[in-house]
Amino acid sequence: MLPQFDYIRPGSLDEAVARGAGDGAVLHSGGTDLLGCLRDGVFTADTVVAIGHLAELRGIEETRDGGLRIGALSTLSEIAAHPLIAERYTVLSLGAGSAASPQLRNQGTIGGNICQRPRCWYFRGDFHCLRKGGSMCYAVAGANQYHCIFGGDRCYIVHPSDTAPALVALGARARIIGPSGTRVVPLESFFVLPAQNVRRETILEPGELVAEVLLPPPGVGLRSTYRKVRARGAWDFALAGAAAALTFSDGRVNGGRLVLSGVAPIPWRAAEAERVLIDNPLDAETIRRAVEACVADARPMPHNGYKVDLVRGVVAETLRSLA
Ligand SMILES: Cc1cc2nc3c(=O)[nH]c(=O)nc-3n(C[C@H](O)[C@H](O)[C@H](O)COP(=O)(O)OP(=O)(O)OC[C@H]3O[C@@H](n4cnc5c(N)ncnc54)[C@H](O)[C@@H]3O)c2cc1C
Repeated sequence: MLPQFDYIRPGSLDEAVARGAGDGAVLHSGGTDLLGCLRDGVFTADTVVAIGHLAELRGIEETRDGGLRIGALSTLSEIAAHPLIAERYTVLSLGAGSAASPQLRNQGTIGGNICQRPRCWYFRGDFHCLRKGGSMCYAVAGANQYHCIFGGDRCYIVHPSDTAPALVALGARARIIGPSGTRVVPLESFFVLPAQNVRRETILEPGELVAEVLLPPPGVGLRSTYRKVRARGAWDFALAGAAAALTFSDGRVNGGRLVLSGVAPIPWRAAEAERVLIDNPLDAETIRRAVEACVADARPMPHNGYKVDLVRGVVAETLRSLA
């Protein structure tokens, strides 16, 4: 059952920001993650501030520079089905379309998707873990088969979103509105590692909300795609995934990014693999070297060593499909 809280439906974006900055306030977009967290006591809220009706946060349109603006309330279904996104930013269309189930994609928004809380079963369960203010991470000596193999430090969550790795691969930015004004931040700097702060997953300060996501114009010769491996064929989070957005010239890779999902507390940029790819043709030898560069720094836990091979496989398939 849901606990008791005040529910506010602000009349404007300014009011939403002001009410969202209050002690014990949380934002409510589609509610597909938030309401489950409140029901299960993952965290509590005195006030739930609804933003799902605010027109300023809606819409998908081209920007003057040839990029795209995606309002934070755009649903995952709208993004997956948008013709311009499918054509120019395929990786994002595939990421949004591979998240959750059709019903959840109809209700879940991109703002909520990148701000959803982690799915670690200790964090979501009755465990007072580090991320909830406790003194230990239960995954270290526990059931850690779904935890991270990169970027863990005291806490070993994986970042759950399928759109976030695509946005980082595309070099997207988020426009954030809060009590002290507006700031525009690269998505790459939006997510927080446990070593930086073990209690939160994003840089958002109290009262700040994501208003829109801004995509740069697609680079000349851009090809992009997303693949994820899940434990079952139907809707599920990624055990491992790869978002690639690479530009090509004269048959060689000349720029772009490769970002892993399901294996780190943030969308994990495979920087060493990107270096292997640049200035090379995307042939079998380059792909083999990029795959090995992806896993060189992996630090598997006792029960998730299988993820190293999953990364190898999913990165090889992703790159081959772009070749
Ligand atoms: C069964 C199930 C399976 C799922 N599988 C997947 C999957 O495979 N891949 C995947 O990516 N996701 C998956 N999800 C997550 C789902 O996609 C998210 O719940 C959804 O995208 C969240 O959007 P929402 O609008 O409902 O967010 P809400 O539930 O309203 O909010 C989620 C969080 O973000 C905050 N928030 C919401 N909007 C904003 C904003 N604009 N600015 C700042 N903070 C905000 C809220 O305060 C809350 O903490 C799954 C969820 C479920 C329940």
